Amino acid sequence: MISSSNPALFGITPFTTLDYPDKIAAIAWFAGCNLRCAYCYNAPIVLDKGKIDEEEFCAFLDKRINKLDGIVFSGGECTISRSFLNLAREVKKRGFSLKVDTNGTNLGILNTAIDENLIDYIALDFKAHAQKYRKVTGSNLYFEFTRTLEYLISINFNFEVRTTVHSDLLNEDDISNMAEILYEKGYRGDYFLQNFLNTGDNLGNLKEPKNNFDISKVTSKLNIKLRNF
Ligand code: SF4
Repeated sequence: MISSSNPALFGITPFTTLDYPDKIAAIAWFAGCNLRCAYCYNAPIVLDKGKIDEEEFCAFLDKRINKLDGIVFSGGECTISRSFLNLAREVKKRGFSLKVDTNGTNLGILNTAIDENLIDYIALDFKAHAQKYRKVTGSNLYFEFTRTLEYLISINFNFEVRTTVHSDLLNEDDISNMAEILYEKGYRGDYFLQNFLNTGDNLGNLKEPKNNFDISKVTSKLNIKLRNF
């Protein structure tokens, strides 16, 4: 059932080859987020209301059939949107693959979507270990994140884990610790480290890091892949 009230999406990126591995995709940017990461440069998406309703998004999907392989749900935090399941069903009805970018703090909705075979791939943000989770995200949802991580590992789901690195927030020891947590919980995929992107505007008013980040000081049993370093 399509509902036009409360537009869920802040915007749509109609074409990307970078955000869904090996697929030509579009990105649906969901408005709103339950975290307040200091390095977040998506303030308007996090803080403002949506502008594109479900009907408009479905019309967009209809026009992209046979032109795109996949759709990425990103944000903001897409899983807190009341439209998440509806829109995921609309994506799958039209034969697209669905990738979900998530901070992993809303296992209930992910669980439902996975049970319905709506999601093909997940990029899971590991924001920080327990001691720094509040400092990085402004929230106390670390336990919720670990439940999602453990669940995805337990069902052998196709997913990646990634961490944004601002070296004044997370140093080499923190990342080594996080790699060890992932390994101990049974994750065996690649661990992606994404360098902080300074757009000059972020929620924590962060500047370029004062500390260097030396990847050679990170110890990890997992394969680490760097993005934008
Ligand atoms: S970086 Fe943090 S605050 Fe920004 S959208 Fe992602 S989870 Fe939300």
